[in-house]
Amino acid sequence: MLSFESVGMRYANGTVALDSVSLALPRGQFCVVLGSSGAGKSTLLRMVNGLVRPTSGRVSVQGVPVSPASLARLRPRIGMVHQQFNLVTRASVAANVLSGALPVLPAWRALLMRYPRELRERACALLEEVGLQPEHLHRRVSELSGGQQQRVGLARAFMLNPPLLLADEPVASLDPRISAQVLALMRQQAGERGTTVLCSLHQVELARAYADRIVALRHGRVMFDGPPADFGPAAAAALYAAAPASPAGAPPAPAMPAHSLAPVEQG
Ligand code: ADP
Repeated sequence: MLSFESVGMRYANGTVALDSVSLALPRGQFCVVLGSSGAGKSTLLRMVNGLVRPTSGRVSVQGVPVSPASLARLRPRIGMVHQQFNLVTRASVAANVLSGALPVLPAWRALLMRYPRELRERACALLEEVGLQPEHLHRRVSELSGGQQQRVGLARAFMLNPPLLLADEPVASLDPRISAQVLALMRQQAGERGTTVLCSLHQVELARAYADRIVALRHGRVMFDGPPADFGPAAAAALYAAAPASPAGAPPAPAMPAHSLAPVEQG
């Protein structure tokens, strides 16, 4: 459904953000990418919607390689949930949810905010599904709590019923209790639709609780790929261990011997 084939990314300043990453996500999988700041999580996600072009390897969605030529075709198939919600806070909840349909609407409709009736009905239904009330529909987003705002973000992401959802640290700005609620909701909504999810997190406990599969990145390399039950305390400690000093340009030393980690699964 989503595949990364020997993907590498070296930014113009020489930073190697990803080094030969290969992953294949089957339909409906809820895959969490773990890693400390700078591990390459955002770069990996941004390659899927074309915001970053890999310097080597290939990313494909439903068998279509992501490229400038295929992006317009792929965008409606990819929902996005962001760390800072990326909502228009002065606009209404309804306008924000409806904006999730913009990739398939003619520009004039978007400019005039004239959405077809079936889309307006869908927005209302989605708001209910993410646990918001009808009275929220015309409220400004800025009047909502962080958790409620991310629920709006989720409803927006599901507007076009995309087969793939990308979530870049979707709960990083929420407190732990609300984070768990939002992740549970995301998982439930994705599960009901068979949506494949690629979600970056830095909280190991949340990944263990909600992921079907954990991919742990360290210095742009996959250091663990497997079910949450196999991601034990040793793997977590290695993932977040202080980076060993390495000479400029040299690859960082592995965090722990490969044989002490669960086998890498490429399913
Ligand atoms: P994460 O999401 O895990 O924090 P990122 O993918 O944002 O990691 O970053 C991975 C590495 O790439 C880091 O060293 C970061 O500084 C670097 N990086 C990210 N974006 C750029 C960029 N536009 N230019 C140069 N280096 C970048």
